[in-house]
Amino acid sequence: MISKALIQEFQKVVGSDGVFADEADRAAYSYDAAVLEPVVPGLVVRPTTAEMLSRVVRLCNENRLPLTVRGAGTNLSGGTVPRPDGVVVLTNGLNRILEINTEDLYAVVEPGVITAKFAAAVEARGLFYPPDPGSQAVSTLGGNVAENAGGLRGLKYGVTRDYVMGLEFFDAEGNLVKTGARTVKCVTGYNLAALLVGSEGTLGVIHKIILKLIPAPQHRKSMVAVFDRVSGASETVAAIIANRIVPATLEFLDNFTIRAVEAYSKAGLPVEAAALLLIEVDGHPGQVEEEAAKVEAICRERGASSIQVARTAQERDKVWEARRAALSALAKLKPTVVLEDATVPRSRIPDMVAAVEEIARRHHLTIGTFGHAGDGNLHPTILTDRRDEKEWQRVERAIDEIFDRALAMGGTLSGEHGIGLAKASFMERETTRATLDYARRIKRALDPNNILNPGKIIGDA
Ligand SMILES: Cc1cc2nc3c(=O)[nH]c(=O)nc-3n(C[C@H](O)[C@H](O)[C@H](O)COP(=O)(O)OP(=O)(O)OC[C@H]3O[C@@H](n4cnc5c(N)ncnc54)[C@H](O)[C@@H]3O)c2cc1C
Repeated sequence: MISKALIQEFQKVVGSDGVFADEADRAAYSYDAAVLEPVVPGLVVRPTTAEMLSRVVRLCNENRLPLTVRGAGTNLSGGTVPRPDGVVVLTNGLNRILEINTEDLYAVVEPGVITAKFAAAVEARGLFYPPDPGSQAVSTLGGNVAENAGGLRGLKYGVTRDYVMGLEFFDAEGNLVKTGARTVKCVTGYNLAALLVGSEGTLGVIHKIILKLIPAPQHRKSMVAVFDRVSGASETVAAIIANRIVPATLEFLDNFTIRAVEAYSKAGLPVEAAALLLIEVDGHPGQVEEEAAKVEAICRERGASSIQVARTAQERDKVWEARRAALSALAKLKPTVVLEDATVPRSRIPDMVAAVEEIARRHHLTIGTFGHAGDGNLHPTILTDRRDEKEWQRVERAIDEIFDRALAMGGTLSGEHGIGLAKASFMERETTRATLDYARRIKRALDPNNILNPGKIIGDA
């Protein structure tokens, strides 16, 4: 319970219309896109300037209030599930694009800018910001940085980390920390941006981001390769990479996901296919044609029964919109949807797809699998009903086994969705106790009162 006097302190900082103390308002910020019990925070505040944000952090620290920053709340690992005695700090009032520099190819933004709006603003200036999480229509750039979000273009263009040139953030006491620069090269001091990217709000509160922009590709070609066997599709992924071709996007959808997506988006996907690969190559027109021809040949060699090439920009957009709708389409089918994120070296994609199928069969579960196969990053998605206790126990065992199989293949717990609360207890399986202790020592040194998003990633510091 946060006292009335303290609520008034926050009102003095952000104004009374920026403080939400009613239970109904607070309940709206008790959950995110992870399947976890909601936790209603003690207070929600909405600063609209950097100065306000800094003072909010300071007030939380002085009063030992746990502080959870929230962008759009789309993370899938419980990163924005707050503490009951804590404060949720919204960034949707800090949503200005401060600069798009077309000469020096960078932009400066506040954390609450919506990813897709930013990408469109950049595109309108003839440039390109590649990171494109499936949630981009609502996710924020601050949330993308704090999660090191990936997306559909990770294979060729990398992830958010690869575009962060600099950050300004507030430490646990509300002091301003600056790292990086607007220059292509910068080795001034520790690379604190690298520490903050992916830190899920546990080490600082980001208020300004300098992002790298690149020239837009001249030409793009998208295709849908249809397979009658799942193994044909998954082996094709490994073969394309092994042939030294790096498509911008290389996505996998199994039959269950194809049917769900088609029912949802009516994009004309072939519902009888065992699996689809959605592929886009981009670059110089000559290179695009050459690579597309090679990709087509590899798909056919591995048993693709047909390859549909998008002839217009509208046809292309339709395919990618359908793919982006995969999670929403699956979520319509059952009350509870658990989207996993275990990632393996790319050559192990066929083994991982087979492992997930086997786990689903053995536990009598429905698992649709789709994802960024070119990155080795599959999203096995378990459709269930959490109220069914027996089935939920099987779900938990299946998740456990999916992680174990990925790790045994040289993979990792999370390719892009982060650890948050959902996977914190699994961390030691991939790393060592000493690794966790090392991380906890960093956390304790930088946030001695443990106010910054406590419990996330490393458990209780
Ligand atoms: C349909 C759907 C599709 C998705 N597709 C993808 C995908 O393709 N790739 C991918 O990587 N993810 C994907 N995600 C997951 C999610 O969208 C990303 O993790 C995204 O980066 C979260 O952004 P957000 O604004 O919602 O952040 P939030 O969920 O609000 O926050 C995420 C984390 O960042 C912290 N945070 C937010 N802002 C700040 C700040 N200013 N300073 C410090 N910490 C901060 C929060 O405390 C939290 O720990 C998807 C989610 C959904 C629901």
